[in-house]
Amino acid sequence: KKLGIALVGLGGYATNQLAPALMQTQFVELRGIVTGTPSKIPKWVEKYRIPEKNIYNYENFDRIADNKDIDVVYIVLPNSMHAEFTVRAAKAGKHVICEKPMAVSVAEGRQMIDACKKAGKQLAIGYRLHYDPFHLEMMRLSREKVFGEVKLVEASDGFRAGDPNQWRLKHALSGGGPLMDVGIYAIQGARYTIGLEPISVTAQEFPKTDPVKFKDVEESLAWQLQFPNGAIANSFTTYITGVNRLYAAAEKGWFEVNNAYGYGGQQGRTSTGAMPFTHINQQAAHMDGVCKAILENRPNNVPGEEGLRDMKVIEAIYASAAAGGKSVKIG
Ligand code: NAD
Repeated sequence: KKLGIALVGLGGYATNQLAPALMQTQFVELRGIVTGTPSKIPKWVEKYRIPEKNIYNYENFDRIADNKDIDVVYIVLPNSMHAEFTVRAAKAGKHVICEKPMAVSVAEGRQMIDACKKAGKQLAIGYRLHYDPFHLEMMRLSREKVFGEVKLVEASDGFRAGDPNQWRLKHALSGGGPLMDVGIYAIQGARYTIGLEPISVTAQEFPKTDPVKFKDVEESLAWQLQFPNGAIANSFTTYITGVNRLYAAAEKGWFEVNNAYGYGGQQGRTSTGAMPFTHINQQAAHMDGVCKAILENRPNNVPGEEGLRDMKVIEAIYASAAAGGKSVKIG
């Protein structure tokens, strides 16, 4: 049996990654779309055979409650819309997958978790790397202390943000700059490669080289997470240039993934050799992993609580940067 999924928001990620991946999934299939742009509909109907009755807009979305074809709703909207649509989907009695960052604040994240709990439905975050073999290996090498205990992680993720008019540069829609967008992968990488929760953070915002383009959000940020065993993670995120790595220094060696956070092309190495994995379709593996858990009535690997931990770190990073780099405790 396959679950039926509806994609909410037909932008770049839904169109170019999720919908094609749903052609390869074993436990879930694309059955519905929710869009605010009617002109997009014909292409989706043609390509994915979406029946008219499974097409919604943002106003009539709540009627999805009556649609038995749809078991799961996948929110792929700008960050500030995640909380509203997750809560509405839960109230409509649907399981929810929500893109990262789960929300623009810890408070919103909590509301989303509560709404899904109350509805008795699962909430999963779009953390596709929890299903990627290279990242699973980073977790395993740390957990099994193959090279001893991890003492330092260096994790950075950034890219050059082109279009000056995109929602990512508008605080009201994004909730922040590169930290909200890709910096979260560096936080994730540090947390799962050290295998503990950080207790405090120091952060520094860099002066803007383009204060017009980045008037609303940070351009580049650095931060250092402190972990309860004394381990440290040093990280950087930016909208100015590409940077994409996850490196762990342990007592007796090191392990790393370069091109770490992309949809493929991971290059994994350890101090004793290359990681012997082939690339997979991360989006298909993620949606299948979550939907298999739903079908088997057990918790998924990337629940709302996992998203909330990152939101707590993000809020602490912004608080520290705003306080000139003072150490801030992570709630
Ligand atoms: P996008 O700009 O390509 O698409 C955004 C969609 O939201 C568009 O269809 C747009 O029409 C719609 N939208 C609705 N209201 C809008 C508004 N007020 N302003 C702007 N757009 C509005 O963005 P995207 O890259 O698809 O990102 C969507 C979400 O997916 C974000 O939360 C992002 O962080 C996440 N994402 C995750 C990954 C991943 O690898 N997991 C990759 C890309 C994006």
